[in-house]
Amino acid sequence: MNPIVHAIGAKKSFGTFQALHDINLSIERSEVVCLIGPSGSGKSTLLRCINQLESLSDGALWVNGELLGFRREGNKLYELKDSEIARQRLSTGMVFQRFNLFSHKTALENLTEGPTQILKIPARTAREEALNLLERVGLANKCDAYPVELSGGQQQRVAIARALAMKPAVMLFDEPTSALDPELVGEVLAVMRNLAKTGMTMIVVTHELGFAREVANRVFFMDHGQIVETGTPSQVLVKPTQERTRDFISAVL
Ligand code: ADP
Ligand code: MG
Repeated sequence: MNPIVHAIGAKKSFGTFQALHDINLSIERSEVVCLIGPSGSGKSTLLRCINQLESLSDGALWVNGELLGFRREGNKLYELKDSEIARQRLSTGMVFQRFNLFSHKTALENLTEGPTQILKIPARTAREEALNLLERVGLANKCDAYPVELSGGQQQRVAIARALAMKPAVMLFDEPTSALDPELVGEVLAVMRNLAKTGMTMIVVTHELGFAREVANRVFFMDHGQIVETGTPSQVLVKPTQERTRDFISAVL
């Protein structure tokens, strides 16, 4: 099998501080991986490296078969220019804790902006696809609403649909429900659960261990910039082998 996300010896430093130490991972197509771990353990940094919002300090990352940040010619590797990195970045869709929608655009326009401007998809096609996506996230009736007219849960569902409109190979979620009022968490998790059922490859940073238990194929526990333990949800969440994992899980539950 060709992994869709693959890391070998990935490291990331900020000045003298090493945020990621020697990350090795392999994620297959259609897998849902939940990334858990204490604050500051490097979860966001790992997603940001996969999304190329940050570049690695050492090691290598592949997404959808492409080595991130480099182009190969014969035996030589050349660093990519920013415009080429922007193209590579389209393989991943990212959903953040804060929804950051375009505030002056309607829900529909939020979804059509990228496809028409960046992918050069004809406006009519982009509109049809956007309407289908808004329906998938349960917001067909909100296509003309501006973000300010939507609840946090609705905005986050638009943000998920907007990322999907770019047809990424992998969806990355960084604590997508952490900024929501508790009563709005369920509707966003429901959209993510349905997305997982469609076979989308997903990496989800979350403290929602119930979601991880139910939806994830594998759970990775991170601490101090390392992946300390991996396994099925029942292995990692129910019978963790590492003391650090056990401590974390009992603190979150
Ligand atoms: P998590 O998402 O698990 O809470 P992060 O990946 O955000 O953790 O951060 C991991 C560590 O890297 C933290 O100690 C954080 O302070 C540090 N860090 C993250 N981004 C930067 C940055 N741009 N500059 C300096 N340090 C950073
Ligand atoms: Mg984080």
